[in-house]
Amino acid sequence: MSVLSSPYFHDEAKAFEHLESIVWAGGVVCPHCGVVGGRVYDLSGVRSKPSKKNPEGVVRHGLKKCGECRKQFTVKVGTVFEHARMPLHKMLQAVHLIASSKKGISAHQLARVLEVQYKTAWFLAHRIREAMRSGDLATPFGNGGGAVEVDETYFGVKSGRRGAKAGTAHKFGVLALVDRDSGTMRSFTFDKFRAEQIHPIVLNNIAREARLMTDEAKMYKKIGRDFAEHGTTLHGARQYVDYQDRTIHTNTVEGAFSIFKRGMKGVYQHCGEQHLHRYLAEFEFRYNTREANGIDDRGRAIEAVRGIVGKRLTYARPHVEG
Ligand SMILES: [Zn+2]
Repeated sequence: MSVLSSPYFHDEAKAFEHLESIVWAGGVVCPHCGVVGGRVYDLSGVRSKPSKKNPEGVVRHGLKKCGECRKQFTVKVGTVFEHARMPLHKMLQAVHLIASSKKGISAHQLARVLEVQYKTAWFLAHRIREAMRSGDLATPFGNGGGAVEVDETYFGVKSGRRGAKAGTAHKFGVLALVDRDSGTMRSFTFDKFRAEQIHPIVLNNIAREARLMTDEAKMYKKIGRDFAEHGTTLHGARQYVDYQDRTIHTNTVEGAFSIFKRGMKGVYQHCGEQHLHRYLAEFEFRYNTREANGIDDRGRAIEAVRGIVGKRLTYARPHVEG
């Protein structure tokens, strides 16, 4: 027995039941008319139209009919899984693999494990990353006066800037905020480390009563005035924790960055600018649902599946890359 021996990883009917138990935990929702917990009929035994490959058609798993609007649907409608051709049980395997690999998993490896085409694996991985993206900005960090660490980092090389060596203008910029009380992070991409890009992110995501923790960069000095307290460490002088007040440091956010950087270096070597936010979402998701926050691999995969509801990839088909 192993984690992967759960029936929903191998049996298509069980896979649908598993997804339904997560997505419809609060009652079945008809995606057509929006009725919650209305009359819904199971249409078992329905087969698709015969084709050359399947002269008798294939079983349509999880098919339901809404008693209100009389339309048919499955739990996949309206989720990032809707238009994927792969069987659902394989996609659940992919969710588990991505959710449990600390540094991520490349599309090539995913393709080998699932025995699917590289392109198929690439698209699926991006669908799952989209599911991991949290759009929840309801509660600002540092609510109640807690400490929030803010730091920026640079990595990779922007397209068309391969020759550049010095400075940071040719690299991707990432700003991360870590809420020490909840142990969770939020990350954002920025183009230039300037007040007009950085200040709004900080103001929109951190409560005014928070204790802001940053390094000595000038940028943060001005931003820090908006908060109850601003603690800084002098990284230039190799001082990483304040000697008087040991709670003043940015070591947590730097730890989060190091996991991200190791993953991006080792697994996702060629990340296009237009996909960076999704890779960030993947790392952020795993960080926020890590063991230290009381969530194991199985729980993390369920969290990821929960995120698939109502999140469809709305952009036009992007071109595939490593
Ligand atoms: Zn309906």
